[in-house]
This record gives sequence, structure tokens and C-alpha cells, in this order.
Amino acid sequence: MNRKTMLTDLKQYEVWFVTGSQHLYGEETLKQVAEHSKEIAVAFDASEAIPVRVVFKPVLTTPDSIYNLCMKANTAENCVGLIAWMHTFSPAKMWIAGLKNLQKPMCHLHTQYNRDIPWSTIDMDFMNLNQSAHGGREFGFINTRMRLNRKVVVGHWQEPEVKEKINIWVRVACAKYDMQGMKIARIGDNMRQVAVTEGDKVSAEIKFGYSVNGYGLGDVVSFVNQVTDADMENLMQEYNDLYALADSLKAGGAQRSSLEEAARIELGLRAFLEDGGFKGYTDTFENLYGLRQLPGIASQRLMADGYGFGAEGDWKTAALVRAMKVMATGMDAGTSFMEDYTYHFNPSNNSVLGSHMLEICPTIAEGKPSCEVHPLGIGGKEDPVRLVFNSPAGDAINASIIDMGNRFRLLVNEVKAVEVEEPLPNLPVARVLWQPLPDLKTAAAAWILAGGAHHTGYSQAVNTEFMEDFADMFDVEMVVIDEETKIRDFKNELKYGDLYYQLRKEF
Ligand code: MN
Repeated sequence: MNRKTMLTDLKQYEVWFVTGSQHLYGEETLKQVAEHSKEIAVAFDASEAIPVRVVFKPVLTTPDSIYNLCMKANTAENCVGLIAWMHTFSPAKMWIAGLKNLQKPMCHLHTQYNRDIPWSTIDMDFMNLNQSAHGGREFGFINTRMRLNRKVVVGHWQEPEVKEKINIWVRVACAKYDMQGMKIARIGDNMRQVAVTEGDKVSAEIKFGYSVNGYGLGDVVSFVNQVTDADMENLMQEYNDLYALADSLKAGGAQRSSLEEAARIELGLRAFLEDGGFKGYTDTFENLYGLRQLPGIASQRLMADGYGFGAEGDWKTAALVRAMKVMATGMDAGTSFMEDYTYHFNPSNNSVLGSHMLEICPTIAEGKPSCEVHPLGIGGKEDPVRLVFNSPAGDAINASIIDMGNRFRLLVNEVKAVEVEEPLPNLPVARVLWQPLPDLKTAAAAWILAGGAHHTGYSQAVNTEFMEDFADMFDVEMVVIDEETKIRDFKNELKYGDLYYQLRKEF
């Protein structure tokens, strides 16, 4: 169980590089297989394109050695998964016992040591050594026969494209590892009567490995009350250094006390989360007893530090945001909790303005955020402090996990974020403007037909391939809305999914 709450260097994690073979070829060939495997593992380990350690494991040639390795991988601390390569032919019945018991994700690397066929020198010795073209098919069959999800990556191991696919897979494997035993605090339960933020927490724990438990606001307030004036002053100085403080929030300003309260809330909430070992949390403006403001800048900055967040009790999105943030560790582009807020139905540039009442992560900020205080409009509390900013243009995704009653569905929409060209002088929240693929009308119709939430994980770092690997690793349904989406086909896809999961009788 990984209890680390903050995001750190992914080099703390490792994948095992595993090569299948058999004894038929003799010692000399097996020695060469081992040398080649080691060379690839060492190259991956040293590659900046792959963010975890890659550990070479001795070549596997018997059912016992395969089984033993899989069992060790299951319990090995910091091992997030296996990369399997069939350099030669490894009769796949040997893999059954191991694969049946393997609980870590697997990536089948379908590569070969040499890139080119050595036309002038190729002989049968070469052919015996370099058999992945058919060895990989034997291995693929047994995985498919056993209905095992795995990622299949094809290409020469030195190609950047191959390394990028492995990079994505290992990042998702790290997120899966991080999720096992992860604790999400649901502070103040749900926004009343809201449906999509509800769900089966027991099913989620069985499926994803994270737990969600409820806490009263008093649990947080007791930490807020312990914040010292000195710590509060230090944090306000940090706000002053990092953000453009509104005049009213500066020392001597009319609303300086709002900033003091915001800093106390951040410090108290942070202490609550650290004390409980939580990696994510939810709150709701309808239940803030004992807090003077809805946490705004606090939630924004906690998200930037890697905490998952979901507003209005949305624990599924909190867990998803955390997972996406783990996937994106060390990447430049940001990831945030998000909500589809308002449409721009101008035919020339149909687009969506995404935002939330307060809680958008400053990792997606373009430029220096301004730190402001404004009334919230709902909830009946004091004006909350928040960071206000635009977000840069570029490719992004919105992802949502919904509870369909008999299964979880992961829904992804590819979008293009665009510059907000007009000033928004009266809009006191962070925001993103995007154009969904294939177009707003199709994307919104498909999203609604799929039952997607208004809350999402939004990312410019994590793309659809990450989410596909995520869905495969957890064996959950995935539905994608992208430039290929056509509503009639999409409706059928949803129907086929219903049929498939009825037949599987999950949960
Ligand atoms: Mn909301």
C-alpha cells in the first residue's frame, strides 16, 4: 500500500523487463537473448523518455520461473508492472500459471533486437535467435485466450514512438499503483439531490483500490483553529510573492482579513489531509459549518501540489484528478478539476467555457494568476479568495468516470483549448475556453447520451492514450468522443457496451 500523498519523482517506481524464451535453443542462444534483453532494459532505464526505473530480470524459460517471477512482482514494493518481450519463441502454456496470478499491469513489447534484416549475412542461426515476429504471436494468443488486458506496443525498441508508448503506459501504471490503498476524504458529503456525483463507493474500492470515507467539517475546522499567526503570515507572503494580489487583499487593504482566513483554511486543510494520509478530498458549499469561506485558493493550491479534488462531494472526479496528476508527474502541462460551464454558440467558433465556482488548478494557468476576493453568489458564506487566470491554447482532454449501476464508465472527449481573446473583466474565476472534437454539437450530444458528468478531469498533459491504458488496467468501460465520432455509431457503441457488461455480470 502506497501512502505517499505528495507527487514525487517517478524514479521511485520500477517496471521489470521480462524476457520469455525456452531451453530448446541451447546455452549460446540463451546467453545472447539475455545480453540483448539486458541491453534494451539498460537503455530504457537510462532513457529520459521513460520516467521510472527499468529493471532487467533473468530470461524466463520454465513455467516455475515464470510463476515465481509473477508472484514476486505482485508483492514487490514500488514495482508498478511488467514489460514482457518474446525475443525467441516461448511456448505460452508455460505462461498460464504466472499470468493467471499476476496482479500488476503488463505491457507486451513486440519488438526485436535488430531493426533491419541483415540481407547479406542472414542465416538460420540469426533466424533462430530473432523470432519475436512469431514468438510474440504465441504470447499474444495465451493472453487473449485468458482474456487478459494488456498494452501491446509494436516497433523497434530504439524508436521514439515506441518509448513514448511505454512512457505513457508506465505513467498510468504508476497511477494505478498510487491508487491502491489511496484515501479520499469526503468532507461534508454531497451537494443535495445531485445524482452524477453519487455512486457506489464499495464498488469503487473493489474496482480501483481507493477508499472514500466521510468527514465532518469540524474535523477540518479543528485543524484550521490550530494554525498559528506566524504560519498564516508566511503563507500570505507566499501568496504575495507568487500571485498578483488585489489591492484590497494587500496589507492594510479593506479585505485583508479575507486573505488571512483563506491562508488559515489552506493551512488547516493541508494539515488535515497530511494527518489523515489523504491523496484527495471533496467538499461542498452546502456544508461548510465552522468555515467562514468555501475553500478556494486552498483547493486550487492543494490540487497544484498533486491532491485530487472534486467539488460538491464528487469523489469519483477527485480520485480521477489525482490519478491524472500522477500520470502527468514532471510534465510541463497541467491538469485540473473542471466543469463545463457556459457555451459560446456563435456558429463561427462554437466553444465551451470551462470553469468552476473557484476550484481550478493553477497548473493550467497561463502567466501569473491574480489573487482576488469576490462574493460567491450561493452558499451564504463570506467572500472566498481565489486565483483568477486564463489557460493556454493547445490539445487537451476532458475525462469523467460515471457509475452506471452495474459498472463504471470512463468517458473521454478530446478538445482543443483556444485563447480567450476577449477580456473578461467581470468574471472572477479561472477559466478555459475549448472547442470539443469533432464539434460542439456532436460532442455535447454524445457526452450527454453517454451520461457523462458536468465535472471532469481536464488535462493538457494526459491524452486519450493514457486514459485508454487506464481503462485497460482497471478493466473498465471506456468511451471516447474524438474527431471520428458520429452520433448514430456512438449510440450503438453504448448499446453494445450495455450488452457486454450485462453478459459479464459485473459487481
Ligand atoms: Mn460543480
